[in-house]
Amino acid sequence: MLERLKPFRYVAVAALALLIAGLVLARQNTGSQPASAAQVTPPPPGPGPESRPAPKIGPAKLVYKVETNDPVVFLTIDDGAHQDPAMADILRRNGIKATFFLTEFYAQKNPEFFRKLRDDTGSVIENHTATHVNLKGRSEVDQEKEIGPVSDQYQSWFGTRPTLFRAPFGSSDDATLQAAGEAGAKYVVNWGSEVANGQIKFSGPHEFRPGSIVLMHFKDTFEADVTAFMAQARANGLTPALLTDYLK
Ligand SMILES: [Zn+2]
Repeated sequence: MLERLKPFRYVAVAALALLIAGLVLARQNTGSQPASAAQVTPPPPGPGPESRPAPKIGPAKLVYKVETNDPVVFLTIDDGAHQDPAMADILRRNGIKATFFLTEFYAQKNPEFFRKLRDDTGSVIENHTATHVNLKGRSEVDQEKEIGPVSDQYQSWFGTRPTLFRAPFGSSDDATLQAAGEAGAKYVVNWGSEVANGQIKFSGPHEFRPGSIVLMHFKDTFEADVTAFMAQARANGLTPALLTDYLK
């Protein structure tokens, strides 16, 4: 009797197994529905806002002098190594508004000194790199590190973003002009003559001409240098003027 029922038991077990397999498959299909639905709406293709390149800003223009027929000469005073409260009076006495190209390495030691000197004399503060390295030949990324953050910092300290940049040693290349432009500078300003130790060092003819740009430094010879600059300016019938009134 039992022997005769055996085939039925196999059929029953097989049918039960098929039923369970069917139920499992049905559940899996149901469970996979939300996943399929999610795949219907993938994130939009293409780059997100973060990966979009910043708008390209044009390079700054390199100048050695200002093109003008006005009887003006421009005094630029660089770096900021020597700081003396008497400097304000020396500039005021000579009627000089100057352009201070400050290196952040020096400016950071006493931003208040330079802010006051600027305000007392009607001068302006511009960008002369973070650490006074020779920029020429360096990558644009390396040059940007020496220029852009300094303009950000000066905007914070002095309330005005530099629109002029001076390369250390007057040594620049195309990457300098581009990095200066990206930082918001319209001009990279070199110079013609230089005054040091109370003497003018002419780069060409022994005179200042309308639009000449003269280099000086914050040194302990400040008064002698200013005096020599003014004597030469007067000899050539020129009045000191601000670069930012002409380089716009
Ligand atoms: Zn310098």
